[in-house]
This record gives sequence, structure tokens and C-alpha cells, in this order.
Amino acid sequence: MSTGQPVLTLVQGDITLQSADAIVNAANSSLLGGGGVDGAIHRRGGPAILEECRALRASLARAGNPLGRGLPTGQAVATTAGRLDAQWVIHTVGPVHSTTDDRSPLLASCYRESLRVADELGARTVAFPAISTGAYRWPVDDAARIAVTTVRATETAVEEIRFVLFDGRAYEVFATHLGG
Ligand code: ADP
Repeated sequence: MSTGQPVLTLVQGDITLQSADAIVNAANSSLLGGGGVDGAIHRRGGPAILEECRALRASLARAGNPLGRGLPTGQAVATTAGRLDAQWVIHTVGPVHSTTDDRSPLLASCYRESLRVADELGARTVAFPAISTGAYRWPVDDAARIAVTTVRATETAVEEIRFVLFDGRAYEVFATHLGG
């Protein structure tokens, strides 16, 4: 496995319109779809992704694996990407932000585990949304810092890690962290 440093790139836009080997989904533990980027990925990717998520849950449940009850926070699994311009969707479950409890190791784990799955698949380009910064309310500046420092510290054969930010403010915040 090549362990050269991946190039980190930044795009403002809709992640479901990206062309990449793998697109990361900020899923919830049910893996059965939700709002935000999760809803957008299932809508544009079509029913094949959800079917595969259901099959994955069922086979894990049959094997007695706890993943059959849902994907734990901080972990990642892959499905094919349906009609998206990608080979795989990597579903990861971000932590809900807490003001009392430091859950940043779990947010870092989402990035690390997604890259580990990407390496298993042989993905060379991986597009990430800003995990946990929507419904899960993580402040974008802190989420961007964790995202950038974690991927920089992760050994991977992925050649391009692309952050895809929906809105201009998140884009600017990520740009600041990437430039620093
Ligand atoms: P979470 O539950 O992990 O917070 P959300 O999907 O609610 O996930 O939000 C995560 C981030 O994804 C937010 O910053 C949101 O603006 C962004 N987002 C929502 N839709 C898209 C999309 N189609 N492409 C890229 N980013 C998106």
C-alpha cells in the first residue's frame, strides 16, 4: 500500500454531484436514511443504496453481530453507490455534539474509519461532507479542525481527500484550516 500523503482539496457544492471513487455519507446508526446529506445521497443515488443497507443490517444481525442493531457512532461501512457518480458510498455515523461531554474522538474516528474502509476498497479519491455539523449541531470551526487534523494524521493509500461543503461559510472555515 502506498502511504504517500494524500492531497486535500476543497469544493463548495452538493456532494451527490461529485465524481469520486467513494462518497462519504453522514448517516445515522439505523443506516436506513435520514435528512440532510443522508437524504440527499439516497434520493439521488436511488433505492439500490437503501436495499444494500438493509441487506447489510440483516446479514450482520444473522451473524449475531451488534451492527445488526445499527452502526455504532464513529464506525463506517460501505455500499455501492447506485446512480451516484462513484463506486461506493461509505456510511459513517457522526456523534451528536455535546456541551458537557467531549465527543471529539468519535468525530475523529468517523474520518479515520472511513479512510480505513476506503483503503480496504481500494478507493483513490474520497469525498467527505462536514460530518455532524448539521442535525448533530457540531460547531463548524471545531468540526473542520478535527476533520483536517485527523485526515492529516491518518496513514492511507487514498490519493485525494476532498471536503465538499454545502454552504459558503463552512467552505471558508475549512479553507482556513486547510491553509494553516
Ligand atoms: P449530521 O447529522 O452528521 O449533522 P447533516 O446531513 O445534518 O449530518 O449535516 C452535515 C453537513 O452536511 C451539514 O454541514 C450540511 O449543511 C451538509 N449537507 C447537507 N446536504 C448536503 C449535500 N447535498 N452535500 C454536501 N453537504 C451537505
